[in-house]
Formats: sequence, C-alpha cells, structure tokens
Amino acid sequence: MADRSPEKSSPVYVIGGGPGGLAAAAALSHRGIRAVVLEKSDAVATSWRNHYDRLHLHTTRRLSALPGLPIPRSYGRWVGRDDVVRYLERYVEHHRLEIVTGVEVSRIDRSPDDTEWVLRATGGRAPSSPVVVVATGFNHTPRLPDWPGRADYTGELLHAAHYRNARPFEGRDVLVVGVGNTGAEIAVDLVEGGAARVRLAVRTVPHILRRSTAGWPAQATGIMVRRLPRRAVDRAARVMCRLSMPDLTEHGLPRPDTGLYTRVREGAIPVQDVGLVDAVRTGRVEVVPAVDSFDLDKVVLADGSRISPEVVIAATGYRRGLEELVGHLGVLDDRGRPLPHGRRTLKSAPGLHFTGYTNPISGMLRELAIDARKIAKTVARTTA
Ligand SMILES: Cc1cc2nc3c(=O)[nH]c(=O)nc-3n(C[C@H](O)[C@H](O)[C@H](O)COP(=O)(O)OP(=O)(O)OC[C@H]3O[C@@H](n4cnc5c(N)ncnc54)[C@H](O)[C@@H]3O)c2cc1C
Repeated sequence: MADRSPEKSSPVYVIGGGPGGLAAAAALSHRGIRAVVLEKSDAVATSWRNHYDRLHLHTTRRLSALPGLPIPRSYGRWVGRDDVVRYLERYVEHHRLEIVTGVEVSRIDRSPDDTEWVLRATGGRAPSSPVVVVATGFNHTPRLPDWPGRADYTGELLHAAHYRNARPFEGRDVLVVGVGNTGAEIAVDLVEGGAARVRLAVRTVPHILRRSTAGWPAQATGIMVRRLPRRAVDRAARVMCRLSMPDLTEHGLPRPDTGLYTRVREGAIPVQDVGLVDAVRTGRVEVVPAVDSFDLDKVVLADGSRISPEVVIAATGYRRGLEELVGHLGVLDDRGRPLPHGRRTLKSAPGLHFTGYTNPISGMLRELAIDARKIAKTVARTTA
C-alpha cells in the first residue's frame, strides 16, 4: 500500500465531483491514498441534478454502480435521475470522501522543478501534487452549432442542457434538433407533455435499439461484443435491428447504411428506444431534415424547406472543454480528446490521469468504475 499520509505527501487532486471523480477518489482512498476532490459547483453530482426530470439510466442498476457501493435495489432496474443523485451523495458519505466545493480549476501547469502539477484554482489558490485525476466530464460544455442566421433568430432557441420538462412547451410547436438519446427522449417527453406539434430534425439517421429484449439489457450485449471485430458486430446488429425494430423509412427514419459498431467507434452511441419508435410510427413526432440555417423567424432545413416552430431545442451535444485546462500540455488530440486515458499517462505528462472522456457501448458509469480501480492501482504502484 502506498504511504501518502497527509504529513508525508500532498494528496492526489481529483478535478470534478461527478461519478468519475468520486469513483477515482474512493478507489484511491481504498488503497490508503489521500484524495481531495475539487468541484466547481456547490455540490457533487451537479450534472445529474441538472438533467431533465424524466431521465432514467439506460444502463442497469447493477452495471452502473461505482466501486465499493452497490446502488440500492429499491431504486429499481432503471435508476431515475433523483436516485442517481441520492446514490452519489451516499457514495461520498460511505467512503468519507474529501470534497471541496466552489473550487474551479482553470489551468494545470508543470511545476518549475518538473516534479508536480500545479493547479490554478478559484481564489488564487494553487494546490500542487505529483498526481492529478482530471474528471471534468464528457458533457462539459453545451455545443450549439454556429448556424448561419442564428444570432438574429426571433424564435426561442435553447440547448437541451437547459430542458427540464415539457411544462413550458405545452400547446406549442417545437422543433428538436438532433436524434441522440437526449433528443429522442425530449421529443417523446414533449409529445407526452402536451406540446401541440413536435418535429425532430435528423442529420444522420441513428441506430435504434430496445433498452432490453425479453429482460436482456442492450448494455449487456454491448459489454459482450465490445472486443469482437467491428464487421462481425455490425452484421449481427443489422440482423437484430431488423428483427426487433419496425421499418420507419416512410416516416423519415430509414435504417442507417453504416454499421452500428462502426458508428460507435466514430463516437455515436445507438439510441435506446424509450418511446421514439412508437411516436414516429404514429406521427406524433415528425421527422424532418437537418437544420441548415435560420432566417429571422424561420428555420431553414437541409432540403430548402422553411418552417416556423415557436421553439427550437438543440440536442446537439457537448464539448469536453479541456483546451483551457490542459490544451497547452500536448495531451489532447486534434478533436480535443485526451491522448492518455484511465491508468495510462503520457511520458511527457507523468501522473496526469483522465477519466470519463470516451463514450463506450458498455456504459460510461461501468467504465468510470473500471478506470477508477485501475488508476488507483497504478498510482499506488508508482508512488509506493
Ligand atoms: C443525459 C445523459 C444520460 C446519461 N445516461 C447514462 C446511463 O444511463 N448510463 C451510463 O453509464 N452513463 C450515462 N451517461 C454518461 C455518464 O455516465 C454521465 O455523463 C456521468 O455523469 C459522467 O460522469 P463524469 O464524472 O465523467 O462527469 P460529470 O458527471 O459531468 O461530472 C463532472 C464534474 O466536474 C465538475 N467540473 C467541471 N469542470 C471543472 C473544473 N474545471 N474544476 C472543478 N470542477 C469541474 C462539474 O461541475 C461536474 O460536477 C449519461 C449522460 C447524459 C448527459
């Protein structure tokens, strides 16, 4: 076990108090390594507190638990947003994690003697440590495409990150842009919550899967196949989708040409059906082409048509937002993704770990848990 008692060494700093950061801190403390979580907001689990009301995990309770504490059975198989927050709060208490809230780390630099990482943090603080875990989240900064005419659009435009429930949109004509899991679920929520008209703008048709089939969760299949050759998985998925999903071509959602696993490798996770298929089939969600631009009160679509929804909700994803924090250290690729991940670090940046910046088919929470254990093991070995 590594001896990193407070008197002998600085703690490992973990940046971010979401599931990734909490899991890493717990795994480190389990190995006797003091970890301090720095969280910019006033509480842990901020991203989950801010998600929309109807959100439930798409991954199962059992396969979403973090190291050292199962998610209570009473939360059900598909855990709701509030219960995820409750679980994470409990997690902090259970592992007696050291959390410092209200501290944002804006930049990480190497110390002049090349032995430590120096964090530039809120209030002029500059804590330092040879080991830092960056866990600021895959969904860090809402991404709103720079559509021509966007600034002069006279309708209401919001990012899905600010959507909570359908109440403000009752009786209104809404366009949801983007058909990832979030866009798909918000469209269904709007239909069920009484929006007058719901259109869904689709640029790339998604793969759509059942969350579970005869009790078998899609996540479990994802875990089983993730190391198999891409082509074999693509082929099997094509057959499975044809058998389990109706053909929605005449409703504007043909089956994708590119294989499911090929898409996953490119960063696009399949959509898990929580009502979209039925809503599209019955015409309650109308699929329209992608948004091309805005023209005052009109939205111009890729086929040239112009529509006038009252509200546009952009479910257009997030940026990792790591450039300011570590962009100057040569640890990011040209798409802003960390080159090292989990237990692995770069030779040029020893002790600088990243967790939570991939979007795996096997479930992110599960991968965060695995990463946390591996990071802790590596830190224990290298600092012993
Ligand atoms: C809508 C939605 C549904 C999802 N559903 C599932 C699911 O069903 N199953 C699954 O496995 N995964 C799911 N995920 C993916 C993933 O599990 C979650 O996004 C999870 O919260 C990721 O944890 P994280 O700790 O990496 O990031 P986050 O939860 O985003 O936490 C990052 C934390 O870091 C803090 N922070 C950011 N920058 C700084 C800084 N500079 N200084 C200090 N603190 C900072 C933030 O305030 C935040 O608290 C979902 C994601 C979304 C968006």
